[in-house]
Amino acid sequence: KPVAELAHDLIVVGSGAGALLGAIRAADAGLSVLVVEKASLVGGTSALSGGGIWIPDNHDMPRAGLRDSIDAAFRYVKTCAKGLATDDRVLAYVETAREMARYLAQIGVPYRCMPSYSDYYPALDGSLPGGRTMDPCDFNAAKLGVKALGTLRPTNPGQLIFGRMGINAFEARSMLARERKSKFVLMWIMARYFLDYPWRRKTARDRRLTGGQALMGGLLTALRQRNITLWLDTPLQSLVQEAGRVTGVVVQREGKSVQLAARRGVLLGAGGFERNQALREQYLPQPTNADWTATPVGGNTGDAILAGAEAGGVLHLMAHSWGVPTLFVPKEDKHRAMFVERSLPGCMVVNAQGARFLNESGPYPEFQQAMFANHQQTGGAVPAWIVFDADFRAKYPIGPLMPSTAMPDNRLRKSWLNVVYWKGETLQELAQQIGVDPAGLAASAERMGDFARTGKDLDFDRGGNSFDRYYGDASVKPNPNLAPIAKGPFYALKLFPGDIGTKGGLLTDRDARVLQQDGQAIEGLYCVGNNSASVMGPAYPGAGSTLGPAMAFAYRAIAHMTGQP
Ligand code: FAD
Repeated sequence: KPVAELAHDLIVVGSGAGALLGAIRAADAGLSVLVVEKASLVGGTSALSGGGIWIPDNHDMPRAGLRDSIDAAFRYVKTCAKGLATDDRVLAYVETAREMARYLAQIGVPYRCMPSYSDYYPALDGSLPGGRTMDPCDFNAAKLGVKALGTLRPTNPGQLIFGRMGINAFEARSMLARERKSKFVLMWIMARYFLDYPWRRKTARDRRLTGGQALMGGLLTALRQRNITLWLDTPLQSLVQEAGRVTGVVVQREGKSVQLAARRGVLLGAGGFERNQALREQYLPQPTNADWTATPVGGNTGDAILAGAEAGGVLHLMAHSWGVPTLFVPKEDKHRAMFVERSLPGCMVVNAQGARFLNESGPYPEFQQAMFANHQQTGGAVPAWIVFDADFRAKYPIGPLMPSTAMPDNRLRKSWLNVVYWKGETLQELAQQIGVDPAGLAASAERMGDFARTGKDLDFDRGGNSFDRYYGDASVKPNPNLAPIAKGPFYALKLFPGDIGTKGGLLTDRDARVLQQDGQAIEGLYCVGNNSASVMGPAYPGAGSTLGPAMAFAYRAIAHMTGQP
């Protein structure tokens, strides 16, 4: 039974990017706001993300000499969405995203565009070879303060240098591509961290926040500047309705159910359902396992999706996730996503038959979908294996393994052998270690050698477009994504069809209002981020396709709620 009633204009559920952006904009519009968050830390998956946002025709493109149009972006997203998002919503997104990005800069969270980071489907009409993805500018945590920084969910070890120092997307790419300047960049990052003695005396966390830490550190700072109340450890339990309109929420606070009134509305931003095994089994492709997701443990269990459905909201896209291959690393509490290393030359992904079945350099959702499709046919692609040779191992990082030139095998943790990585002096030996057909593996490696020489992957066209090549090695010719896998010892890592969140949830309209079966909106109920069904349909048009819409629709929700443009 609810024990108390407290009133605000807006109640925001969750503290990811969309939720906080909505809270801040509402406060700027003069509303009183309360944010309730289930976890003990702020920021959800958004805080440990790359922080990238996909913003067509953004304000920073002209600086980089790039041009874009709303019309081209609309055509592109419409094709990507394959009829699973209405034109109306797609248009609302492409029109509003750039306005939202300007607003981010105004509230102290500026972004810059990444001129050569391609859209994910370069062959589709309206795509661009760069500029729409934006990376957050580094954020100085001193603006937030050490104490408040302690409430921000930290990022993953994999996104830090030596588990400590922040690195932004430009620097990461420079290092992966082994650009000459990257050595100096690395030295600068380390020197800046270690010489920052006054800050390090207070906390081991880097003062320079990058990626999702910069985004969420910036939003949390803006939230605090506006004195918006945020309650941690306060999960939503249900929505309160009067005559169909949502007028409040019931939350769990300090062991009690508390009813809170929302005069203008409730904004749900409580993430997807990837941490809920039962819902995964009900909706997602099989096999499925909540352990395979790269999102925070215990976080997004679909509570607010179910609460919205209970209030009459329609569910949509529930069979889809933001797929990515993930791997297990001991002592890390969740699986690591493998976004980019699989694209570098000298590796290939095989099933239990030792056969390649996908373009290793392609977009990560399609990678995950190909694992399921091949598993259905062969029974051998979950898990799959990424196999590479000594040359690859010497040059590039992969998963938690630093290049062997920096960290040879004898310096790797002993406990990682046959858990994180497998090793064989010959391909045959490796095949036996990982239970893959040796003849199939040898044939795939030989064929890869031919493709590397000619520069043409006749099976999957790896390296055949600007997206593949972005995370290639430009010094490798004729194709930056292809190199022979020929020099022993050989290595393999085990990959699962994981995700960075689910993309099905409550169906919304162009203003993020939750829709009922009859197409009418539920008054007073708005929903954003992975709590809602994605505007991108089954696709991932470009890096930043989850955070961009989460914040753009939060921006629109508040405009609708307050009647301000
Ligand atoms: P979240 O950010 O997860 O926030 C949901 C919040 O709601 C959580 O804090 C959760 O605790 C809270 N919550 C859950 N249930 C309740 C409840 N009952 N009551 C109250 N609160 C509740 N996407 C991009 O667009 N660009 C990127 O660069 C990018 N990089 C990524 C890198 C990694 C390693 C990962 C894992 C993901 C990345 N993603 C990226 C995906 C992106 O982070 C997520 O899709 C996005 O953060 C989802 O935002 P959200 O607000 O819906 O959920």
